Amino acid sequence: DQGLAKTKESVFTKISRAIIGKTKVDDEVLDNLEEILISSDVGVETTLKIIERIEKRVSADKYMGTSELNGILKEEIASLLEENNSNDIADFDLPESNEPYVIMVVGVNGVGKTTTIGKLAWHFKAAGKKVVLGAADTFRAAAIDQLQIWADRVQVPLVKQVMGADPASVAYDTLSSAKAQGADVVIIDTAGRLHNKVNLMNELSKIKSVMKKVVPTAPHEVLLVLDGSTGQNAFEQAKQFTKATEVSALALTKLDGTAKGGVVIGISDQFKIPVKYIGIGEKMEDLQIFRRREFVESLFS
Ligand code: GDP
Repeated sequence: DQGLAKTKESVFTKISRAIIGKTKVDDEVLDNLEEILISSDVGVETTLKIIERIEKRVSADKYMGTSELNGILKEEIASLLEENNSNDIADFDLPESNEPYVIMVVGVNGVGKTTTIGKLAWHFKAAGKKVVLGAADTFRAAAIDQLQIWADRVQVPLVKQVMGADPASVAYDTLSSAKAQGADVVIIDTAGRLHNKVNLMNELSKIKSVMKKVVPTAPHEVLLVLDGSTGQNAFEQAKQFTKATEVSALALTKLDGTAKGGVVIGISDQFKIPVKYIGIGEKMEDLQIFRRREFVESLFS
């Protein structure tokens, strides 16, 4: 179970209600289904894609009954989700050289970026990896303080400078320190100010190029953190960040208290970026690897 009880209840219950007294998948059932998917934050484009595929199957099989609808939907949704090849949170290929694996974390404030970094650090450390954190969100003092709290909690070193310092300089220091300590993995926090797209783009690309001076293959992962409970806002943020930098993986947080988990389907389909992690609570252990089969099952079981 992926801890998505609320999501499960909502999509499944709605579909069950929509097909009560119906034996065939007719236009009315399809219209209701479309509405359910949209209200579950799957997104209009992805919803229409799903409906179109089901329509095709219905016209190919005139005897298709509503009892088959859940199974078909599951198949179609799973096929839209990007496969996540990691088996475990701490499962990644370390670079060939003795250099650390570098994860650059991006996302707007409040989505759960710091918490996700803390959770990752805890999981990596528990798996025996040596972790160093870098506070390259120098825009807000609170961001540095929050990260320090997590670093203390997990007991991993944090490299930081004063508020207002050059984020690229913090990233440089962090990688240098990590390399000197023989660290396995570095997680760098960055500022997520979307109001100025050009600045964001410049800042992220500067951080990246400075990192390469220490670890030429860095960053190995650019992880975009999105709040799964914000539905279409998460969508919009994915659009902005993928324009500003190359994002390699997604973390969707706050899927515990939400009926909006459907946003995972639309984002995965529209941006072709795998959802790697899901946040299902505020504690260190509340992070899971995203598994599309389990996720789809949890929507429909
Ligand atoms: P940041 O500004 O993006 O760094 O956000 P924070 O990491 O400080 O998180 C903002 C709030 O969301 C905090 O109260 C966190 O405890 C909470 N939070 C983060 N991830 C999750 C999650 O997966 N589930 C729940 N329920 N709360 C979360």
